[in-house]
This record gives sequence, C-alpha cells and structure tokens, in this order.
Amino acid sequence: MTRVSESLHLARAMLRDVVPYPTERMPCEADLSDNTNLFGAPPAALRELAISGRDEVARYPGVYTRRLREALAEYAGVRPDEVVTGCGSDDVIDSAIRAFAEPGESLAFSDPTFSMIPVFARVNGVVPIAVPFTDSLDIDPDALLATQARVIYICSPNNPTGVAPSHTAVDRVIAHAPGLVIVDEAYAEFAGGGRVGEAPRFGRLLVTRTLSKAFGMAGLRVGYGTGSAELVREVEKVRGPYKENGPGERAAACALREDVQWMRELVAHAIDIRERFAAALRDRGFLPVPSAANFVLVPVEDAALMGSIMRKDGIAVRPYAALRGIGDTLRITVGPWPVMERVLDALCAARDHVRARVGEARP
Ligand code: PMP
Repeated sequence: MTRVSESLHLARAMLRDVVPYPTERMPCEADLSDNTNLFGAPPAALRELAISGRDEVARYPGVYTRRLREALAEYAGVRPDEVVTGCGSDDVIDSAIRAFAEPGESLAFSDPTFSMIPVFARVNGVVPIAVPFTDSLDIDPDALLATQARVIYICSPNNPTGVAPSHTAVDRVIAHAPGLVIVDEAYAEFAGGGRVGEAPRFGRLLVTRTLSKAFGMAGLRVGYGTGSAELVREVEKVRGPYKENGPGERAAACALREDVQWMRELVAHAIDIRERFAAALRDRGFLPVPSAANFVLVPVEDAALMGSIMRKDGIAVRPYAALRGIGDTLRITVGPWPVMERVLDALCAARDHVRARVGEARP
C-alpha cells in the first residue's frame, strides 16, 4: 500500500465523497467569479491596516473579538452578546451546524444554493437533504419542513439564483421548524431589509452575514451571525477562540464605524449597474434571472464550454452545469460598467462560438 492510500484509509470515510472547494485562481483581466466587491475596499479599513503594529503581529488578538462584536452589534441593531463572529461567515455556518445537529441527523436546504452547504453538512457527519425550489424560484416551506431536519438553511437572497425568498415562506419555516433555522444574508445589503436585527427574538433563528461582499473585505475573513444570546453562545463554544486575526478585526471594526455610507453608495451603484447589465443581456437575447444581489445568473447552452472560452478571453465567471430547475448557467458578479461591457462582448463571442460548434456537429 502506498503512503497516500494509507492516509486516505485513515481519514473519515465520508471525506472520500467531499470535493475540495476550487480556490485556485489564475490571473485574468477581470475576475467576476466570486461575488466580492469589485469597486474596492473601505478607506477606514485600509488606513487601519496600514498602521498595524509589531505587537499586533506577535501577540494573540482579543479572545472573543469584543471591539468587533460591539461594532457589528451597532450596525445590526442587536446587543453585543447577540453576535457571534467567525473566520468568514463560512466559519459561523459550519460551527452552527456542528452545534445544532448530532452526527447522523440532517440539514435541509433548497437546491441550488451556496455550494458549501452540503459540504459543511457532510464534514460534520450530518446528512444534507436537497429540496427543490418552487417554479418561481421561491423556497417551498412545506417541503423544507417535511424533512424534519435538525437544521434548515435558507439563503436570502439566494446564491446562485439571486432571488430573495418571500417573507411569508421564511416566516413559515421559522415558526414551524423542529430545530435551528439559518438564514444566510451574505448578500442582504444589495437586497435591502433582512432579519439580522430581529434574529434574537426567535429562539431558533441564526442570521449570518459577512463583510466579504458589500463591505469589500473578503481578504480579512470576517463573518458574523446574530441570534439570541443563548443560541450564539452555543455556536461560539464550537467555533472556539482566536478565529479573527488582530489587524483584520480592528480594520473591520473601523469600517463598520466609519465606512457604512461608503458601502451604501457602492451598493446603490452596483444595483444600477446590475439592472443596466440585465437589460443589456435581454437586448442580446439572454434571459437572466432577476437578481436581488450583486451578481446575475444567466442561463446558457453549455456552461462549461462558455466559461472556458470566456476564461481564455480574460474574463472569469462561475459556470454551473445542469442546475436543478434551471439548467446550465453562468453566474456573473457585477463590477464597474466598463468591465461589464467587456463581459457582454466576451459572452456574445462565446455564445457564437458554442452555436457554431453545435451547428458543425449537426449532420
Ligand atoms: N454565504 C453565501 C451565500 C456565500 O455566497 C458565501 C461566499 N461565497 C458565504 C456565505 C461565505 O462568505 P465568507 O466566508 O467570505 O463570509
């Protein structure tokens, strides 16, 4: 037996089905594949990072990120003890699943959604149950509840469709779920509203958010969740100490205090461009899914081929093959308008290429 297969044998059996998240990024002219803020980073965060001292590098950061929690609590409209932070909202969601579902229990989600959700379930020994969306791409509350899952995950607005589930459907899930409900609001700043401020009033609701998207700080890895003090404490126990890094925590806290207006202006600008981009797509014969986020999902004929042709043209987008109820699609992050004009050209050229190939293949 080789050393590699020996290690595989030692690892937990369920890991054999888990495919690592594709993080490799080849440099390209425009990367529109990860829904980050393509308009820049908040000025106060950059200022704070520039003055990080030696001590901050040599010492551990604050154990339970007090400064950051206070700033987040003020932004979200809750108390600091109703906030849990993490190394990205990934970390908060992963910890919450571990805190609220025993191995062998299940997690239900509407499919398609954030691709890490079934992975987080599996690595925690939890069984992922995928439930279809309705025809209008809303969540189906009764189908989610019928699973009796210990954790129900709802993404609002949803990645990758961009559609925000209806309030009544989400309310119904929260009212009748047998266990934890996670409402992932990673893109909520682009949609307006959200439940981040009201989460503590419900005993079973954890609302997660991130500074990686509208706030433009994906590199600092800061995410958070709000819920009742008792609920977030359980998540925190599982997450453990020192998950934020010191400079990142300080920079994020400053941005939350000083750059909210900066963020709101960029969000408004991104929404204008999103709508202009969607209209330009329709003019060119595409049928984009109406989006409430900072990305647009575009049904196409052969997503993998379209994606690789565009990649060679310098534009990275996220291809999805055969999404349930939708088919092949490309998910395209909204960036500055000149970039979107390049994307439109690259997209049309790729479509022409794919159509020509299909035509050639016909007898
Ligand atoms: N939730 C959703 C819906 C996402 O799309 C992402 C990132 N793509 C995350 C959570 C995680 O973001 P982060 O860990 O950067 O906070």
